[in-house]
Amino acid sequence: MVASVLVGMLCAHLLCFSVMFLLISRRLPGNRMGMDYFAVGNLLLALAYILQLTEGGPAWSIMSVLNHSLTLASPIAYWLGAMRFFGHSVRLWRPLIIFCVSYGGMQVIAQWYVVPVMPAARYAMLAATATLLFFVMTITVLYGVRTFARKLYGEMIFFAFLIGGICVLNALKFLRILDGGLDALHMDSHFQMIFYIYMSTLATIVPPSIVWLVLRRLTDELRNMAARDPLTELFNRRGLLDALQLYFSTRKATPAYLLLMDIDHFKLINDTYGHKAGDIVICHVADVLRSTVRGGDLTGRIGGEEFVAICLETNEAGTRQLAERLRSAIENHGITIAGLDLPLRCSVTIGVSPAFYGVNGLEQALHLADSALYKGKAAGRNRVEIA
Ligand code: GH3
Ligand code: MG
Ligand code: MG
Repeated sequence: MVASVLVGMLCAHLLCFSVMFLLISRRLPGNRMGMDYFAVGNLLLALAYILQLTEGGPAWSIMSVLNHSLTLASPIAYWLGAMRFFGHSVRLWRPLIIFCVSYGGMQVIAQWYVVPVMPAARYAMLAATATLLFFVMTITVLYGVRTFARKLYGEMIFFAFLIGGICVLNALKFLRILDGGLDALHMDSHFQMIFYIYMSTLATIVPPSIVWLVLRRLTDELRNMAARDPLTELFNRRGLLDALQLYFSTRKATPAYLLLMDIDHFKLINDTYGHKAGDIVICHVADVLRSTVRGGDLTGRIGGEEFVAICLETNEAGTRQLAERLRSAIENHGITIAGLDLPLRCSVTIGVSPAFYGVNGLEQALHLADSALYKGKAAGRNRVEIA
């Protein structure tokens, strides 16, 4: 009785979160971060449990065959949803239908050939398949911690722990069925109680955790949008200020130097080759900037074709060297543009500020670097000028 109440509550939870996932997914663009797939995963598991409640005890019926197939299809839908969350384009219904039909066929075969000698064969097969499925999912999540989901280290370990728990419980269930047959499946047995309490706990914990993942992704994207220039993905003025504030908030922060870099005769490039070609040149200069500075330095685009590099933990000589390296790299890299026979070349003039300390020093550093830049332009361009 208690186990049945638990399963009933589990169904209510699953259905509520299925609707919630669906509502959230409708507000998300593109691949909807897999939320629509998670909604289906919840719905399938809820349907499986409703079938189990109406079925009563273990029996051979279409409802039971469907229940077993849906029970396993649900984690597959979750898995596919997780793949979508991490940017893979996967389909939902075709793999689910193929799985359900194949697993239904396997159940029929098991019923005909194995059940006469082992009545609990179909249930043992369910527990074994679930163990295998959750084992593979646990390994995938642990692999994700080191690869595609490194940023979500804590969350992934947490999920691995939860999924690993279902895997172990299903493995134990399998062993119990092998040992005790259908009696092991009695809803009010001690083991079944623990099994369903664990499943109810999961149904309570996993959906809000998924909502948290989506919220975290969205807020990260929002923060990124507010801090970065959409064309080059370099920091904008606000992003530079925030990053600089973070740097100077550390106790061992040393003074910084600022390079202000402006593309020479950029208007001419725009007028001759068109605005699109101009954008390609801007992106190219941004790429060179990004790949030339050191890992901890900050890079930004603060105007049409004006870029900034803030060099941290260096001295004046190092900053001069970087400016010269940048100037020469841009001068020497040809830019391939579709429709043009020869690679396009451009140059930059760079103004270097004196050392400055603290966020409040940024405006003055920009002003001094701008004066140096102006001098460099007047002196013939394609050069580095120190303030
Ligand atoms: P100088 O050597 O003196 O810097 O000459 P310049 O032609 O580069 O001078 P200026 O700074 O006046 O030209 C900047 C031009 O950049 C003007 C504007 O049309 C263009 N521009 C600004 N933002 C963008 C952009 O996002 N894309 C493209 N393609 N052009 C842009
Ligand atoms: Mg210019
Ligand atoms: Mg300019």
